[in-house]
Amino acid sequence: MHITMIGGGYVGLVSGACLAAFGTEVTVIEHDPARLDRLEAGDIPLYEPGLDELIARQRQAGRLAFSDDLASALQKSRAVFIAVGTPTRRGSGHADLSYVYAAARAIAAHAPDNLLIVTKSTVPVGTGRQVAAIVRQARPDLTFHIASNPEFLREGHAITDFIQPDRVIIGLEETTDASSPARTLLETLYAPLNGPESRLIFMGLESAELTKYAANAFLAMKVTFANEMADLCEATGGQITDVTRGMGLDPRIGPHFLTPGPGYGGSCFPKDTQALATSARLAGTPTQLVETTIAANEARKRRLAERILTLAGGSITDCTIAVLGLTFKAHTDDMRQAPSLTILPLLHEAGAALRVYDPQGMDTARCLLPDGILYADSPLHAAEGADMLLVLTEWPDFAALTPTRLAAHMKGRRILDCRQIWQAEDWQKAGFDYHCLGIGPSRP
Ligand code: NAD
Repeated sequence: MHITMIGGGYVGLVSGACLAAFGTEVTVIEHDPARLDRLEAGDIPLYEPGLDELIARQRQAGRLAFSDDLASALQKSRAVFIAVGTPTRRGSGHADLSYVYAAARAIAAHAPDNLLIVTKSTVPVGTGRQVAAIVRQARPDLTFHIASNPEFLREGHAITDFIQPDRVIIGLEETTDASSPARTLLETLYAPLNGPESRLIFMGLESAELTKYAANAFLAMKVTFANEMADLCEATGGQITDVTRGMGLDPRIGPHFLTPGPGYGGSCFPKDTQALATSARLAGTPTQLVETTIAANEARKRRLAERILTLAGGSITDCTIAVLGLTFKAHTDDMRQAPSLTILPLLHEAGAALRVYDPQGMDTARCLLPDGILYADSPLHAAEGADMLLVLTEWPDFAALTPTRLAAHMKGRRILDCRQIWQAEDWQKAGFDYHCLGIGPSRP
């Protein structure tokens, strides 16, 4: 079977390569010529562990190709997946659906009969039916099917998430017919996932679209709740690690997404919470919890910058701050909506000299952060002469740094660890003024 995947980004590349590994022939369509050139040259334009090798293997096996020729790819395809970006529309919380609708129009122009059109992008409720309406209007005589198959992969673990998913959500127009063409085709495509229990969950189109937003908004709320509990711990002498362990052992709560940090970021939570809140307001059922989560997360990043100022005694003019980590989390080069993009400009504006290091995010960060920041070659190079050190991302390389090694490079001894990567006692014993989110002052 042959399928087309529109969009050569995180989702399109990972899904395309994994479906190829399942035995399907896949053409990934990418319209950005520079990106397509890199893909064709085997130079994968994003960092995702294992993806280069997987793509190389699938191309060698003749199951994966890159192209900008949608018409030719569709002629041999049984299904087309739309995996293009759905960023926040400028000036509003709405999802910008222009890429999705452009893809729908392009599909309509070239679709063969009986094509299955699957939306993999995260899209507001109602978008799947809108895609169908666009195709129907352009080609009233075409027979086609539509489905929603939102993607749940996490950057940094994307391949494992795709091939060992908790669940695969599939929204269909026709939910009662177990042998509908859309259902049968998707069951075939995902057949390699089926162990004793099927991971495929079928539901209506609207439910599938909402499931993706509901899951992301819930996780964003969970992170934000942990952040607020961390602040309460600090103010009252609690230890957030103890509190979240105690909470997370309750199976109704679960241990994940309870680690405090500088605020959630990335390409999904910020835009998906905004889009859900906007859809809900438009539907006349505002989601107060989600709206509050968005506001609390924004405020957190600003408060962290204020906290650094307070730690430095009220002024950071002429203070050199080493910053370890720029990406919104470890194991990705994705800088979209990273907390560093809010926090560092505030520190820069307040007069701090910033020396930053990130194993993957620095190329993109250079284009997004203010001029005058020093991009270091290593964590120790960033720490050279620093009065204070700030950890923003939990890269494993940072955990290996010891008080002795950092003391040999830093001028000052103050650390704010926003990711709990070190043990407070080790640093305090070595004479550091070590602060960690969620760890209150020790009691006699
Ligand atoms: P991305 O911006 O990394 O990639 C999108 C790609 O599609 C770009 O390379 C772009 O040039 C290309 N493109 C856009 N329109 C095209 C067209 N008409 N023809 C060919 N190529 C086109 O986006 P992403 O991170 O892969 O996300 C895609 C969707 O999946 C979004 O809706 C996102 O919310 C969702 N999602 C993302 C993740 C993630 O971790 N990145 C996880 C789950 C879901």
